[in-house]
Amino acid sequence: MSRKSRVKEADFVFLPLGGVGEIGMNLYLYGYGREGAREWLIVDMGVTFGSEAEPGVDVILPDIRFIEEERKNIVGLLLTHAHEDHFGAVADLWPALAGIPVYATPFTAEMLKSKLFELGLVNGFPLQVIPLGDRRTIGPFDVELVSMSHSIPEPSAVVIRTPLGAVLHTGDWKLDENPLTSAPTDVARLKALGDDGVAAMICDSTNAIRDGVSPSEADVAAVLARLIREAPKRVAVTTFASNVARIGSVAKAARAAGRELVVVGRAMFRVIEAAQATGYLPQNLHFHDETVFDRLPPHKVVALCTGSQGEPRAAMARIAQDEHPNVELDEGDWVIFSSRTIPGNEKAVSRVQNALSDLGVEIITDQDAPVHVSGHPRRGELEQLYRWVKPGSAIPMHGEGRHLEAHAKLAERLGVKTVVRARNGSMVRLLPEPAQIIDDVPVGRLYRDGMILTRADQGQVRERRKLSFVGSVAVSVVLSDKGVLLAEPEIALTGLPLADSEGTSFAEIARDAVVGTIDSIPRPKRKDQALVSDAVRRSVRAAVNQSWGKKPMCSVLLTVL
Ligand SMILES: [Zn+2]
Ligand SMILES: [Zn+2]
Repeated sequence: MSRKSRVKEADFVFLPLGGVGEIGMNLYLYGYGREGAREWLIVDMGVTFGSEAEPGVDVILPDIRFIEEERKNIVGLLLTHAHEDHFGAVADLWPALAGIPVYATPFTAEMLKSKLFELGLVNGFPLQVIPLGDRRTIGPFDVELVSMSHSIPEPSAVVIRTPLGAVLHTGDWKLDENPLTSAPTDVARLKALGDDGVAAMICDSTNAIRDGVSPSEADVAAVLARLIREAPKRVAVTTFASNVARIGSVAKAARAAGRELVVVGRAMFRVIEAAQATGYLPQNLHFHDETVFDRLPPHKVVALCTGSQGEPRAAMARIAQDEHPNVELDEGDWVIFSSRTIPGNEKAVSRVQNALSDLGVEIITDQDAPVHVSGHPRRGELEQLYRWVKPGSAIPMHGEGRHLEAHAKLAERLGVKTVVRARNGSMVRLLPEPAQIIDDVPVGRLYRDGMILTRADQGQVRERRKLSFVGSVAVSVVLSDKGVLLAEPEIALTGLPLADSEGTSFAEIARDAVVGTIDSIPRPKRKDQALVSDAVRRSVRAAVNQSWGKKPMCSVLLTVL
């Protein structure tokens, strides 16, 4: 082997650390350089939200071990848009990233600033506000934004060029000629890129299992206008707070129907402020806060509310429970769910809808009328983009397994030369061709648990989940240094039934097990505290299991006097 060939050549790699094989928590890296000496550009850094499977966890973030290790080689973080699954982790993870320049277009920057402001991080934050369609050099990368349509202002695709060639990272997108917010998808630019040559396209898979083309935001606006005009009494509309176009459509519909707009929910105000600051909602948009709601006649009001996903603390859930301090709905009022239920939230949403129905409220969802459109490309739109961009290889991202696979098959059917089925942690060499997975790096999840950020594999959430099924028994045992029981063991039960089918209390069952076990251990062996604790724990769990059919968790507090 010649000396020269041992020096590894530079490559251009793609490395997803979140968002590929799951919904949410998007975190993508692009690397250029020689193996072991690559420089990295991060694209997006999002969160996902805890569900019943993660009791007590509000927010789930990507594990950034790899980024921390490569910290000195990170040249920047670019945000494609201001959805939580794309930018929600920046503030939480900032201590580990401090100093990395963050690039965002004006609306995204405004949304990030309002988050940083609340956390006291805004001063000195290295945020660089860049215009739509911007092109600049970041480290070894020539980076260009391309405007797309989506369900929030200013979604950008990113062209990333290195000396080896250009790739297109689509971000979240759809084709909507009339998105009612920032510029529609820049079709001319996408076609031109295709003509110049795009080596690889890393593309949104969310709706790859749906045929056809998504309807336009303008279609929804027309339906909302009709419904708000026809409603006999009060109307409340709930939607994703970040959907500025939808907020604008509701505001317009209210005005046309001679109704006053009342905004309910803090997240909605934050977005309206950011949209006004960047020109996506008019400065003179007239709306009230919730305190005027009950003073307006029913046919003169539209309430715009947070809580479309059934979030228990958001406005819609509290209104449905009749627990909202200012907003009350009753018989004959309408609630429009101008949203899609995100998988995992079905139960919470139907709880809210049932409660509204019990109040006599009429509910309109996207099952009843086209009051919502998705912000992601269906198969017809994906096909269109592949025809324009003509990438040499396709790497499906942003989706769960079946979305990614449907997208991969579609790309193959469209004749894309190489389709790479990557997952979080797969390091994909994009260039030189052929594109392929060349390595795997550690990935994982972090939990925001109260005020603490922990690794998901530390086990406390698993324990909590277990606790919710089997409860726990705490046992206090006091022994003399000779191993004699000095007092009746104390027993505390959490989450157990009071007594077994014969009426014997579980405290008694546990206490008998403790005393019996200690008696059965020869005196000299009782000096071994670990042995005693372990034997007691086993016997308590076994004894409870015999009468209950379930083994509780058990902790033993052993004191030797
Ligand atoms: Zn998005
Ligand atoms: Zn997304």
